[in-house]
Amino acid sequence: MRILIVEDEKTLADIIKKGLEEEGYAVDVAYNGEDGLFMAENDPSDLIILDIMLPVVDGMTILKRIRRAGIRIHVLLLTAKDTVMDKVSGLDSGADDYLTKPFLFEELLARIRALLRRNSEVKTSVIETGDLFIDMASHEVIRGEKSISLSAKEYALLEYMAVNKNKVLSRTALTEHIYNEDFDLDSNVIDVFINRIRNKIDRGFNRRLIYTIRGAGYMLKG
Ligand code: CA
Repeated sequence: MRILIVEDEKTLADIIKKGLEEEGYAVDVAYNGEDGLFMAENDPSDLIILDIMLPVVDGMTILKRIRRAGIRIHVLLLTAKDTVMDKVSGLDSGADDYLTKPFLFEELLARIRALLRRNSEVKTSVIETGDLFIDMASHEVIRGEKSISLSAKEYALLEYMAVNKNKVLSRTALTEHIYNEDFDLDSNVIDVFINRIRNKIDRGFNRRLIYTIRGAGYMLKG
């Protein structure tokens, strides 16, 4: 999953980015509202962590602009303010959730997981499909009786496919959700990762989980 952080406190933004990358998310950062608005409108992220108090263009303006433009993206507002009115106006303007600074990183992670599974059939932090088990909180992956060890990127790819199981996902869509904007989209790196995941997930099992859909991309059948 790919996340955009819009936060002018550079230290905080960089700490969140580092922590999220360690969890396997692809992360882009904008340090002011103008860049944040541009990236939100032009780059396909799954979720925005949006600070309200920002220079140039504030977070509420960004929120209203992207909702008016019909951009379907989860928005988690971050703010130092903690008044009922701010919460109400943030949620009324189209925010999905709200976190008041200071916050614990674990709480941010839990809220992100909750938002990212909101549109999917997955309702808890655990995905069970057939004999495949994925714990999105601990990143534990088990198939049958076998515990499977994956790199952060392999895990991110598998989790994204599992959340979107039975949907065909193009290489471009997979790349855009697994890598940040610094990544070269022309690479065939997704094929390499899919092969590695297959070797770990499907090899030795009668029923395959990961299918190549010719000319279209890949699908995890659940
Ligand atoms: Ca700020």
